[in-house]
Amino acid sequence: MSYRIGIGYDIHKLVKGRKLMLGGILVPFDKGLLAHSDGDVVIHAICDALLGASGLGDIGVHFPDSDKKYKDISSLELLKETVKKVKASGNKIINIDTVIIADKPRLASYRKEMVDKLQQALKINNGAVNIKAATNEGVSPVGLRAISSYAVALLER
Ligand code: MG
Repeated sequence: MSYRIGIGYDIHKLVKGRKLMLGGILVPFDKGLLAHSDGDVVIHAICDALLGASGLGDIGVHFPDSDKKYKDISSLELLKETVKKVKASGNKIINIDTVIIADKPRLASYRKEMVDKLQQALKINNGAVNIKAATNEGVSPVGLRAISSYAVALLER
C-alpha cells in the first residue's frame, strides 16, 4: 500500500453578469467568476490536487479551455470525469481539504452545502471532504477582485 498527496490551486476574476459557482453550488452574489467553464475555482483546485496525486498532469491537459465542448460546462462534470481518471489509474481517494479565499461574499454558511455536493460528485464518505472559507482581510486584490482556492488530496493505492 502506498499513499500519494497532491496540491491544486486556482484563481478567477470576479466580473458582473456571471453566476457565482463555488464548490458545485450557486452562491447568491452580484458578480461571478470569469472563465471558459463555469469558473468554479474550488472544483478546479480539487481536480488539480487529484490529478497531481495521481501523476496525471493538470486540468488544462485533460480539459483544455481551447475546446468548445467545455464552454460554460458545469465543473461538477469535470470533477466526475477527473474521479474516473483517478480511479482508472488505480487510486482511491482518502480525503480532500480545501481553502477558499473570498472577502466577499462571506461563504461560511454555504460550506455544508458545498461539502455535500462535492462528496456526492466524488462518491466519497462523510468527513472525507473539508472546506475552509477564508478572507485576505482586505489587504489583497485576491478575495476582492478575484476568488482563489487551494486544495490538497490524499490518495491510496
Ligand atoms: Mg479554473
